[in-house]
Amino acid sequence: MTRAEELPDVASAREFYAKYEPKEIIGTGASSTVRRCVRRTTSKEYAVKIIDLIGNGELVGEDLRTVTHNEIKILRMVSGEMHIIELVDVFETETLMFLVFELLHKGELFDYLTEVVKFNEKQTRQTMRALLETVAFLHQQNIVHRDLKPENILLDDDKQIHLSDFGFAVALEHDRQQLRQLCGTPGYMSPEMLKCAINELNPGYGKEVDMWASGVIMYTLLAGVPPFWHRKQMVMFRRIMEGNYSFPSPDWDDISSCAKDIIIKLLEVDPDKRLTAKGALNHPFFQHVEDGNRYFSQGFNPRKKFRVAIWTVLAGVVVSKLSQNVKKTMCVIIGKDPYSSKAIRKLIDASSFSVYGHWVKKRADQNRAMLFKNHLCFNKF
Ligand code: ATP
Repeated sequence: MTRAEELPDVASAREFYAKYEPKEIIGTGASSTVRRCVRRTTSKEYAVKIIDLIGNGELVGEDLRTVTHNEIKILRMVSGEMHIIELVDVFETETLMFLVFELLHKGELFDYLTEVVKFNEKQTRQTMRALLETVAFLHQQNIVHRDLKPENILLDDDKQIHLSDFGFAVALEHDRQQLRQLCGTPGYMSPEMLKCAINELNPGYGKEVDMWASGVIMYTLLAGVPPFWHRKQMVMFRRIMEGNYSFPSPDWDDISSCAKDIIIKLLEVDPDKRLTAKGALNHPFFQHVEDGNRYFSQGFNPRKKFRVAIWTVLAGVVVSKLSQNVKKTMCVIIGKDPYSSKAIRKLIDASSFSVYGHWVKKRADQNRAMLFKNHLCFNKF
């Protein structure tokens, strides 16, 4: 039991305990504890976020209550949307608030990404399509999330995403309403939000901040590292305001120009030129339809497909004839620069995680390939 949970209950808290049986802690926030809980009548599992209004977080008391009421209001406005976490029940006392959510067993997208290192384009397309459809839905209702990041995206058993943490979300009074509050998470903040914080003459920011954060997420999914990160926060902020990022080789060599193009259009410093959620969904990167495990282009052309199949077979014949030479060449390449081989690069990336224990690049010059700069070791290859 946390300190706040031991405090004297009032009627609402008793109502919560009568309806649900709290179980183990599954997560903690700045001023909250998240527990698995079971509804007594149905034995169905949920997650309850228990918010400590008298805790030690940045926000306490009535301020925290007001923020949580806003979160509840917005969660109710978007209730039923497929990729948004479902708020099931709310109980409130003088010192505690209980928010009962659907339980998402697979945890945060952030942790999953840490486990798999990075996504391929197919996985990125699936995740980003769901995220952008959700953002389009929010923006259509004039809701800005303001804290999009892999930590606030939870996964269900089928690895479907569910957007959570609407603590900074705001419902605009009208489409073009400008906001000024600096909020969210530093690495995902947009240039216009930062500029607004340092210059009070700046006109403010709007929905476009979510599109910037979506660009940061997409870059991070594909690269396994975020685009602007620097251990000195001020340097990171400067990079963000300048839109200073790159697609370094060899990490980005295997990634299509189409994927890079949409990232460039999302990480556009000028919010008026940045892709909207609907615009992003219309980008060629998403013009693929998923059919089970197969992917095909929307302009499916069987003749073209057949021609490609023939070329593939012919190429296979040529490659098998050349295979002896290829093997020798590969050995030379791998011996000199193992990180340049895609298969070995994947292995290096996966192994380096158990060494670093974290997927964020810690220094600008840090590169997973550095782990394998020991030429002596690879001369034996
Ligand atoms: P805060 O913004 O108040 O600091 P937070 O965003 O860090 O909070 P919470 O919403 O309090 O996090 O959740 C903490 C952790 O609990 C999450 O990161 C997640 O791992 C887990 N969690 C939250 N809600 C659920 C849920 N519905 N199902 C499964 N796990 C959850």
